[in-house]
Amino acid sequence: VWPSSDSKNGSALAQPRGDDSTLDVAENHKKQLRPIYIIDDDIKNRCNVGINRVRFLLESLIDLNSNLRKLNLQLYVVNGKPLEVFSKLFTEWKVDFLTFEKAVEPEIIEEDEHIEELSNKNNVFVVQRISHTIYDCQSIINKNNGNIPLTYPKFLSLVQDVQVKITNEIIKPVSNYCQPSIDAFEKQDPNCYDVNQHFKLSSEDLSTEICYPGGETEALKRLNDILQKKDWICNFEKPNTSPNSLEPSTTVLSPYISLGCLSAKLFYKELKTIERNHPHTKPPVSLLGQLMWREFYYVAATGTVNFDKMIGNPICMQIPWDKNESFLKAWAEGKTGYPFIDAIMKQLISEGWIHHLARHMVACFLTRGDLWISWEEGAKIFEKYLLDYDWALNSGNWLWLSASAFFYKYFRVYSPIAFGKKTDKDGLYIRKYVPELKKYPSEYIYEPWKAPLSVQKQANCIIGTRVDLALGSRMGVGHTNEVVRTDSNSITIVRPIPGGSYDPHDPF
Ligand code: FAD
Repeated sequence: VWPSSDSKNGSALAQPRGDDSTLDVAENHKKQLRPIYIIDDDIKNRCNVGINRVRFLLESLIDLNSNLRKLNLQLYVVNGKPLEVFSKLFTEWKVDFLTFEKAVEPEIIEEDEHIEELSNKNNVFVVQRISHTIYDCQSIINKNNGNIPLTYPKFLSLVQDVQVKITNEIIKPVSNYCQPSIDAFEKQDPNCYDVNQHFKLSSEDLSTEICYPGGETEALKRLNDILQKKDWICNFEKPNTSPNSLEPSTTVLSPYISLGCLSAKLFYKELKTIERNHPHTKPPVSLLGQLMWREFYYVAATGTVNFDKMIGNPICMQIPWDKNESFLKAWAEGKTGYPFIDAIMKQLISEGWIHHLARHMVACFLTRGDLWISWEEGAKIFEKYLLDYDWALNSGNWLWLSASAFFYKYFRVYSPIAFGKKTDKDGLYIRKYVPELKKYPSEYIYEPWKAPLSVQKQANCIIGTRVDLALGSRMGVGHTNEVVRTDSNSITIVRPIPGGSYDPHDPF
């Protein structure tokens, strides 16, 4: 039995793994092997999961099952609380061995401890392995005398001589095990472990455009396409990739890595091989450097209590954030009136992935830059929509962007106008995601409120009423001199005019 105790864990079947992965442990026991995925209703309800994330998970599980079928195995998808599920299945399946991935998130760790207790009571031998990260995060902390490395260079210095062991073995077909017998639940309902039994998506849910299909097959295809572009990999510099290109300027492997469709170790191994043979850029900006950021945040999350909160988090600066439901809502729905901010949020909602620097832009805007709303609120919205949502990485990056931990140059604020112009001066990205503005001349696309009324009318979009905001200067912070915005105390809502009519007094 190979359980996955929450909706974030997955598997990497056809991929090389760390030599101590859960699958190797399962294989070596040569018994009936039942890969199981538990969809915990509690976790599902606690997490605020948007439809794109559910769809991605569903596709990933379907793909996992079909890959397992090729090995004469199958995925057992079960709904319920893991403890109750195992109480039932330990007896029904006569389980004597259970292996799963070590978790980082405190709630999951606690749940795993209960599962271990239950297993002990039932004489089930449990093995947990680290397979989600490249390094053993706790051993990095131990190496640093029990402290988490708070800077990236410090982290790199700690891992530079750590050997990463990766084998090339792949899981063997089921002839190496005994074929699992049909259990009592399957006798009643032969499809009871079928993933489709557990998700009911409406036709409306399924009608949205799919930019990133879930699953290991797609992940490996994407990885292989990227590995063909050796020059691109060797010259990769994250700050020089564009946050607002219409095609992604980075790999978009994150959803697959986060859900376990792609092993971070495999990606690491492939990049290391390329690096060994070609001149290449270096961390923090290189592609390998990006994977190291992932490890950096995982180590920090492993060693920090209340990592996803401000209160009780020893590394988080305590900041008296404002509460403002309407501004938060405007930000979350992409209705702030700042076209670049709104375009990013619309892309997030509709596609489930946005570029790292686009995340910087909207996270800075929500927190220290403009709206002065807590990073915890922003993290919840990201949790709902990001296909790559990951507890440790989301919290860590929000801590960084709000200048609450790791990064303290709070006065370096992104301009919602100048920043996007650097890579997209005509605002093609805005035109795509905020189509109300698509006829605006480039001159006004980032600041439509500056367009004369005649231009607004011609573009068939009149700028709505403004609401005063206290922007930016709580900590004596102003925007950097990049900022060209003169209406910095206003929020505007962009509204299309129905039928081309114009009502300047119509409040939004
Ligand atoms: P690439 O540039 O191609 O990088 C390759 C891989 O490196 C990524 O797939 C990812 O696994 C890792 N990586 C890259 N940048 C980072 C980073 N800054 N921190 C950690 N790992 C990184 N990433 C998530 O995977 N899940 C999250 O929930 C998440 N939340 C974020 C929240 C905020 C506010 C910010 C600013 C960043 C967040 N990130 C998160 C980090 C980063 O934005 C994404 O990992 C990256 O944009 C994914 O795109 P990519 O796969 O094309 O990245």
